[in-house]
Amino acid sequence: MATTATDARVEELLERERERFEELHPRSREIHEQAAEDLLSGVPMNWMTRWPGRFPIYVQKAQGATITDVDGIDYADLCLGDTGAMCGHAPGPTVAAIERQLRRGITTMLPSEDAAAVGGLMAERFGMRHWQFTVSATDANRFLIRLCRQITGRPKILVHNHCYHGTVDETVATLTADGSVEPRWGSIGPPVDPELTTRVVEINDLEALERELAAGDVACVLIEPALTNIGIVLPDPGYHEEVRRLTREHGTLLIIDETHTLSCGPGGYTAAHGLEPDAMSMGKPIAGGIPTGAYGLSDEVAEKVLASTFWEAADVGGIGGTLAGNALQLAAVRATLGEVLTVDAYERMIGLAERYEAGVNAAIGEHGLGWSAVRLGCRVEYMFSPEPPHDGAEANAVIGGPIDELMHLYMLNEGILFTPFHMMALICPSTTADQVDAHTAAFGRIASELAG
Ligand code: PMP
Repeated sequence: MATTATDARVEELLERERERFEELHPRSREIHEQAAEDLLSGVPMNWMTRWPGRFPIYVQKAQGATITDVDGIDYADLCLGDTGAMCGHAPGPTVAAIERQLRRGITTMLPSEDAAAVGGLMAERFGMRHWQFTVSATDANRFLIRLCRQITGRPKILVHNHCYHGTVDETVATLTADGSVEPRWGSIGPPVDPELTTRVVEINDLEALERELAAGDVACVLIEPALTNIGIVLPDPGYHEEVRRLTREHGTLLIIDETHTLSCGPGGYTAAHGLEPDAMSMGKPIAGGIPTGAYGLSDEVAEKVLASTFWEAADVGGIGGTLAGNALQLAAVRATLGEVLTVDAYERMIGLAERYEAGVNAAIGEHGLGWSAVRLGCRVEYMFSPEPPHDGAEANAVIGGPIDELMHLYMLNEGILFTPFHMMALICPSTTADQVDAHTAAFGRIASELAG
């Protein structure tokens, strides 16, 4: 932790904030105690225990960029469901399309009238044709890995160290100090040793990438164009050109996971930076929060997939999902891409993210915090190191700990929500300049307390 504050000072502030949290949230506490009787850890999904405070706040409603909890407190939501709500909560056009579709049937296992329009919207944005829809980004990644194995006949995949691509078994792996692969810390019941399925390299380590690809057993490289799940780690200039060159040279397919980097613009990082992947995956905000993932294939990959697929067994071949591609999803994607995540909306979102970043940088400088800010379009992160980390291991070394807990809890008590796992702030179309400035002011106050 690069601040001038002592551990004792951080602990003292944390204690104060823990007490403040308890005082502010009697109703959340009550519901949590009730929920704990029948829900594991009192929450509907285990990671909801990762919010700051002894229990999560329970939500009464979420509208635009604001969440209201059951104690009647409003929050500027910079978490936005960890990107699931990057369109803002309950975006009007998406909600209208969902309401219309709800009355006309939710899921039929048949394509709806929206199918062709949705395919067109995806192709136009992401410069890739041959799309499929899934229930989550995790599923999109899982299915793409299967397809890549199928058409290359190779067993392994390669990922970045400290990546996150959802709950995909092969990706829950990290690099050890001696360069071998092990289950990521906290990996629950790994089905097989990931050393058997996965090669792992650091982002920005082209030498390692070349070495690992040279083994000739890697079906696909599955990467985010920048790491976003261990704080943000940006690629070096020229990194992606080399990744593309090396993957082509070694006959390995390149999958770009845009789930979080959709923050970079209407066509994600890929369109913004002219990448040329063989396949793309995504999910979270593309249906305005209705569970949806998608993957797209290049012409060449699509041709190979079609040539090697036994359609008679398509329902049992390991790719699918009864609810995937349902009518509700397609209606929601059509409205979200067509009317919510527009070019104009991105311009506003990115402008406000720049304002946020400038505010954070000014306070870091003023209070000599020794932290840094990194931005990817409308996504900004502060890292507890003077220089932004250059790879996953460096990022992992500065993330977390008491200072992280303090920042999350302080901000929450000040009415500002951050994604629980790191200091990521996301701007949605309805975020206001006032909300950004409220964060800047709160950041300045805690920075001054840490410095003082
Ligand atoms: N890919 C990336 C880059 C992600 O960050 C995530 C989730 N954080 C996923 C895939 C998986 O998304 P989901 O949990 O919605 O399946």
